[in-house]
Amino acid sequence: MPRHLTHELRNLLDRGRDRQLRLAVTGLSRAGKTAFLTSLVNQLRHAGIDARLDLLKSAREERLLGAQRISQPDLGIPRFPYDEAIASLESTPPRWPEPTRGISELRLQLRYKTRRVRGLLGDTATLTLDLIDYPGEWLLDLPLLEHDFLSWSESQLRRTGPERQQHAEAWRTAVARHRPDEEVDESRLAELADLYATSLRRAREAGFSHLQPGRFLLPGDLQGAPVLQFFPLPGVGEPDRQALEALPAHSLYQTLKKRFRFYQQHVVKPFYREHFRRFDRQIVLVDVLGALNAGPERFEDLSDALATLMRSFDYGKRSLINRLFSPRIDRLAIAATKADHVTPDQHANLVALLESLLAEPIKDLRYADVPVRAFSLASIRATETREIETDGQRQPALRGHGLDGEPLLLYPGDVPDRLPENEFWQRQGFDFTAFRPVPCRSQALPHIRMDAALEWLMGDKLR
Ligand code: GDP
Repeated sequence: MPRHLTHELRNLLDRGRDRQLRLAVTGLSRAGKTAFLTSLVNQLRHAGIDARLDLLKSAREERLLGAQRISQPDLGIPRFPYDEAIASLESTPPRWPEPTRGISELRLQLRYKTRRVRGLLGDTATLTLDLIDYPGEWLLDLPLLEHDFLSWSESQLRRTGPERQQHAEAWRTAVARHRPDEEVDESRLAELADLYATSLRRAREAGFSHLQPGRFLLPGDLQGAPVLQFFPLPGVGEPDRQALEALPAHSLYQTLKKRFRFYQQHVVKPFYREHFRRFDRQIVLVDVLGALNAGPERFEDLSDALATLMRSFDYGKRSLINRLFSPRIDRLAIAATKADHVTPDQHANLVALLESLLAEPIKDLRYADVPVRAFSLASIRATETREIETDGQRQPALRGHGLDGEPLLLYPGDVPDRLPENEFWQRQGFDFTAFRPVPCRSQALPHIRMDAALEWLMGDKLR
């Protein structure tokens, strides 16, 4: 076969192999998943027109021709509500999109020109990009697979600190009225489970993140199903195991144990088996600035939650996830979102803080040879940078509009470049204000470093 033909054939085969990419986006509630995915689709749709994507090589080289939505392969999964999100951003006054609450998906087809040697442009090629958005809370359930009901129960009740106990007061009082050997009817079980779920929701509203089971907060399509009607049992532990195991099938203990197992087998495992295992790339979004604003206890709790969440990406040979599911994610990004809430001189600190928050998981990932990179970004930039003069000194500041439309000009404060110590919290030198999105009217959404994240997550597939 002539040389140029074998070359063409190899190109074709290479491209055949790379024609698809499943990119997953996750993060805890309000981390900014909906904003990120909306912006990602919007930037790619506006590539080559008015999107500013200089850090995405294929766009800079003018090889990215555009992106079209095509119908998604998994008909059983809700479609990511892109049009609704854009409609919110384009309304008057602009509104943030409604956050998604379960898994959703959207498929894009990208067209680009391949690169040839000596900078010549090659043929037109396509990449099918599946974008999947799912709640980070679901990943908090992975360690639950290491437990049986009794050990899980103990681990949950150990975790509750004084402030979190306060949110669980009503459930604790109610559950204390029942013995593990008692037969409890369906409706009472549902009531108790509801009180437990309410205690988790209250803790979340108060800013806590490390909450389990994840589906109790974001049930997706399981709302109200009996599989979500269980809770840990206070007052029992390992020494009681034998006696508890001997209880009849209708006892409270045995009923809860059965439901716990069902949750493991029919809720947690299927998500990993049917979805997670098929992701190629992943970005984990973290609202670091929100946690800084919420104070030391919440910050610490976020750090715990992230350590748990990141276990799903620990692909060391003997890790839990690898033993159970052999996933295939080969590249990971972690990103501190809403960077437009601080002045640009603080962005490097924001990345450094994110890296120290995730120091242990990042070490494990590097050891397992999973490439990971940290970013700070704003999916949808809602502020502009200005300079103001205070005491004769020029200082950067942010200009934008508050959620109620009031014009704001402020300096939100310094971001520490490592885990904050007591002194930082005492000074509490950080004031985080929510901004309204700027009107965008059919143009590409303004952003900060979305293009850098895109280059890391898919740039190699657009060569
Ligand atoms: P989700 O729950 O992870 O889907 O979070 P959302 O994407 O709904 O984001 C939660 C909130 O964070 C939004 O309603 C916005 O108020 C804010 N937000 C998200 N991304 C940005 C951003 O890039 N810039 C600014 N200023 N705010 C953002």
